[in-house]
Amino acid sequence: MSFSQLGLNPNILKAVKEQGYTSPTPIQKESIPVILNHKDVLAAAQTGTGKTAAFTLPLLEKMSQKPNKKGQKSYIKALILAPTRELALQVSENIQTYSKYLSLKTAVIFGGVGISPQKASLRKGVDIVIATPGRLLDHMSQKTIDLSRVEFLVLDEADRMLDMGFIHDIKKVVASIPNKRQTLLFSATFSPEIKKLSNSFLDNPKLIEV
Ligand code: AMP
Repeated sequence: MSFSQLGLNPNILKAVKEQGYTSPTPIQKESIPVILNHKDVLAAAQTGTGKTAAFTLPLLEKMSQKPNKKGQKSYIKALILAPTRELALQVSENIQTYSKYLSLKTAVIFGGVGISPQKASLRKGVDIVIATPGRLLDHMSQKTIDLSRVEFLVLDEADRMLDMGFIHDIKKVVASIPNKRQTLLFSATFSPEIKKLSNSFLDNPKLIEV
């Protein structure tokens, strides 16, 4: 199977091709069509399997199908939660790479650095936010982020977020975004805790294990 059979538009395929990827990895083959079909996904995939592209490529495809109207300020449609600054940056770099021929704006938000530049970039308007839970809550309590129009939520490395004690933060974030959304949960393992999280946040998810 090739990338061109997955239902991604030429602008995304061009960026993927430039990365030198010849064919989709197993997690990408399984996840991309399901995500494009609007289903929630609960996926078990380790780092190194190509899991980041497995959720970012279909997200970019769906977002590029409903572009902002001319002159309209971007608003946040996709929220990706990640456990660490390193992972948030990595996801953001992936998105920049795959969206280079699309016109989408991205902000990455994590703690340990000044909050003002993050506020400034959010104020300008972005389509996608990649965030660690703690700093995201800071922005929420300071009302410097508007999550009221989020359509896609991704929990990346959810098992690590639970291990790091982010469960309450995650619950607060999820409680403040619309229920009518598509949710994707990626985790290296399917522990009972992950199943519980999935039961409370996902709607009849497709289970994918590679
Ligand atoms: P990840 O599992 O998302 O951390 O990705 C691991 C590495 O695989 C990253 O360096 C990606 O750039 C690379 N990668 C992702 N998808 C593919 C693919 N279809 N073919 C070759 N490499 C890929």
